[in-house]
Amino acid sequence: MTNRTFTMIKPDATLNGSTGGILGMINAAGFRIVAMKMVHLSAAKAGEFYAVHSERPFYGELVEFMSRGPITAAILEKENAVEDFRKLIGATNPAQAEEGTIRKKYATSIGENAVHGSDSDENAAIEGSFFFSKLEQF
Ligand code: ATP
Ligand code: MG
Repeated sequence: MTNRTFTMIKPDATLNGSTGGILGMINAAGFRIVAMKMVHLSAAKAGEFYAVHSERPFYGELVEFMSRGPITAAILEKENAVEDFRKLIGATNPAQAEEGTIRKKYATSIGENAVHGSDSDENAAIEGSFFFSKLEQF
């Protein structure tokens, strides 16, 4: 277990003005922001980030969605960060997300679900370094 995870506020949430509200929920849950920036991913870069899903039927839709507008990428620090953040964001499908989760409040569908959260310590480190150099992590 490490104490860092990686998140993106996805284009749906950026474009409908939810960035501040989501960051507020992240702060209220006790996560410290260690690195943060807004980026408009190209389709190629979005595809690279989600390459693990390249054989899935929704991959094309996912790449189109993730390159539709800017995202906010961030590295977050808290004890048990990966697991606690997955609890805070809720289920992939907002219809199954619990009350009080970010996806319950901000996601509109299984595809357009407002936030990303790393699923393991290993992926948190890989995904964090996709966006941030050591110099950009505080
Ligand atoms: P994320 O990795 O973005 O935090 P997740 O870990 O909850 O989400 P994954 O299974 O890793 O879910 O899927 C990655 C993303 O692909 C989802 O967040 C969603 O945007 C999209 N996705 C997943 N399943 C579907 C689906 N059945 N139809 C459309 N899009 C989907
Ligand atoms: Mg995932």
